[in-house]
Amino acid sequence: MDKVFITIDQDMCVGVGKCEELEPGAVELGDRGVSEPLPGVALTRERAEALVKNCPSGAISIAGPAPDDAPLADPA
Ligand code: SF4
Repeated sequence: MDKVFITIDQDMCVGVGKCEELEPGAVELGDRGVSEPLPGVALTRERAEALVKNCPSGAISIAGPAPDDAPLADPA
């Protein structure tokens, strides 16, 4: 399975929370009103690409491949 990690640009995130709604096991809307990826949690490339596509501010990127044994985020 093709697993990846994501990254979120804190300066671009506008805190809408769409990402947390789609992938609550991979992303958390923090106290500062911006989202952060949960450390060490991977997504399938397909799920990561859906996050990238659905972020209204373009803040989410695919950081790179995750190892095969990285834990996969629980689906919403
Ligand atoms: S969907 Fe994009 S703009 Fe909205 S909280 Fe997530 S990273 Fe931020």
